[in-house]
Amino acid sequence: MTRKTGNIIMIGMIVGAVIGVLGGYYLSAFFLEIKFLGTMFLNALKMVVVPLVVASIIVGVTSLGDMRKLGRTTGKTLAYYMTTTGFSVLVGIILVNLIRPGDGVPPIGAAVPEFIAMKGQASIVDVIVGLVPDNIFGAAATGKILPLIVFSLLFGGVLTVIGEKGRPVIAFFEGINAAIMKIVLLIIYFAPIGILALIGGIVAKNRESVDELAAALGLYALTVIIGLLIHAVITLPTMLRFFARRKPFAYFVNMGQALTTAFTTASSSATLPITMECVEEKNKVDERAAAFVLPLGATINMDGTALYEAVAALFIAQIYGIDLSIGAQVIIFFTATLASVGAAAIPEAGLVMMSLVLTAVGLPLEGIGIILAIDWFLDRCRTTVNVWGDSIGAAVIGETTEFRNNRQ
Ligand code: ASP
Repeated sequence: MTRKTGNIIMIGMIVGAVIGVLGGYYLSAFFLEIKFLGTMFLNALKMVVVPLVVASIIVGVTSLGDMRKLGRTTGKTLAYYMTTTGFSVLVGIILVNLIRPGDGVPPIGAAVPEFIAMKGQASIVDVIVGLVPDNIFGAAATGKILPLIVFSLLFGGVLTVIGEKGRPVIAFFEGINAAIMKIVLLIIYFAPIGILALIGGIVAKNRESVDELAAALGLYALTVIIGLLIHAVITLPTMLRFFARRKPFAYFVNMGQALTTAFTTASSSATLPITMECVEEKNKVDERAAAFVLPLGATINMDGTALYEAVAALFIAQIYGIDLSIGAQVIIFFTATLASVGAAAIPEAGLVMMSLVLTAVGLPLEGIGIILAIDWFLDRCRTTVNVWGDSIGAAVIGETTEFRNNRQ
């Protein structure tokens, strides 16, 4: 795809999103009719996720060459992710204490939503046990990406130590990787229409809560959004400048297609194919780093989600008039970070993980019912920041010694 075509598609995506918002609000019936086009776009993205994750991690790992380097790179990547996530939670906690959006808000709508009650409580042990798949095809079929990543890391690592026998297998996955990236390009051509239909359908469906947003929950939403903006505009670009020596604005513009898709789909995992395309092709990040860092990032690095978990929990405490001690807020800091690691990269996953944060400090689970009404919107905002954070992580890790000293 030439730069010019890319720009035209990008403009098409933005125009599509704007028309989708306005049309969904004023011409709801029509936009509910064409929602299926959005579903097809979303399906097309999801279709490539499993082969993309498996092939790109295997290719990324085998190109690193040896197991020790893999260990070091994984360590650095995790350390970087945890640091940025920690920063974002901290910003959220400070803001919600300053703005206090929950004071004076009545607990309307307080009931545990059914899909959360049915799930039972998410526990930290479940998250850890879930790392090891009992059946990799089962994990692939049900869209469980984290266990697939674990398997692919292992598989790729082992391929590098079995010598000659591993070569054709590596070449096979290189071919799959290249082919899938071509399919991603084809899907991007349909993005403007897909985005128009998806956004239109969602706004049409949630018309009432658009109005609600302005009322009681407005200040809460604003707190989350200000926090996300601080993280996206100050913290992350500083990391990019400092560690990867890149110009944040140019990097941001090049990520446009992925960020718009993240906002539209509310899923880091569905956005992953486009994130990879933008990071590798437009921002020219070391491909081996991108292949390794991005799938992992999409699954466990969710700065936006972590910030939201902390703000939402403290907002709920404020509504119920519960004054949380510093100790309890420290617990929220850690559980919000963990919840973001454990959250699946799909829509509303963060809301489900709220139960983990709320139970950790003894807050009522019914609070989730209060924030439910506008979660569809905040989900999109936090997913966009999640993807922005992942893409910057790729640039930063691409500049570490493991990759820099070993450019082909
Ligand atoms: N939808 C988010 C994502 O895919 C996760 C969340 O619900 O916070 O990144």
